[in-house]
Amino acid sequence: MIKIDNLIKVYDTGSIQVEALKKINLDIDKGEFVAIMGPSGSGKSTFMNILGCLDRPSGGKYRLDGEKIEELNDVQLAAIRNKKIGFVFQSFNLLPRMSALKNVELPMMYAGISPKIRAERAIAALERVGLGDRMHHKSNELSGGQRQRVAIARSLVNDPAIILADEPTGNLDTKSGNEIMGIFQELNEEGSTVILVTHEADIAAYGKRIVSFRDGEIVEDRLVEQRTIIS
Ligand code: ADP
Ligand code: ADP
Repeated sequence: MIKIDNLIKVYDTGSIQVEALKKINLDIDKGEFVAIMGPSGSGKSTFMNILGCLDRPSGGKYRLDGEKIEELNDVQLAAIRNKKIGFVFQSFNLLPRMSALKNVELPMMYAGISPKIRAERAIAALERVGLGDRMHHKSNELSGGQRQRVAIARSLVNDPAIILADEPTGNLDTKSGNEIMGIFQELNEEGSTVILVTHEADIAAYGKRIVSFRDGEIVEDRLVEQRTIIS
């Protein structure tokens, strides 16, 4: 699904050039659950921005479902992004005075889907993340964990090929964070491809594969051992 060859990103800030990604090679198959780790400044955000079609590489190739991403113009890139990628952010990025339901409907409004279908799909997505009883609450009336559930529901409604989550538990307490990771795990078990960035090893351990960045390079790529959950 994702095939990345010799991907390079250079930021040209005028006086200096920053080589944020140095010839990255990475393949990710449909149905994977990948955690991206690495210290601050190692290139994780740059890589996620390119994966999510928010930014273009300076060199190399990026194939997403066969599309040659590096050859697309801004309009084509935005179209691929809206169709293929579901984003979940650390800061939730919800409209605070709007209901959970309306927040989840937003990406479908941009996609021109009829009000009836929008509502049906938004309700199904909110029920999917366990918020069926909170959908008429404004997002600023919800807890952090509940807000992140709304954001996950929103990321699902256009049926994306990939869910990209950037530090999705960064603003949550441990319990809520674990609940959110449980939702990603379930979505992955149902077939969604999930890629997340995290600083925390405990959170990364929910993934099936951990890719570690350092100084713009991949320094480790390993499968997570199956955990035995003792309850
Ligand atoms: P571009 O060269 O793509 O136009 P900019 O330099 O304008 O990018 O910065 C784009 C964004 O990245 C801005 O929000 C800026 O705050 C942020 N940014 C700029 N320099 C750095 C840096 N050295 N490290 C991290 N983020 C940066
Ligand atoms: P991480 O997400 O791992 O903290 P980043 O991808 O934000 O790493 O940054 C990788 C490198 O690229 C850093 O050296 C950072 O300062 C630089 N960088 C990131 N964004 C920009 C930008 N917009 N302009 C210039 N330099 C940037």
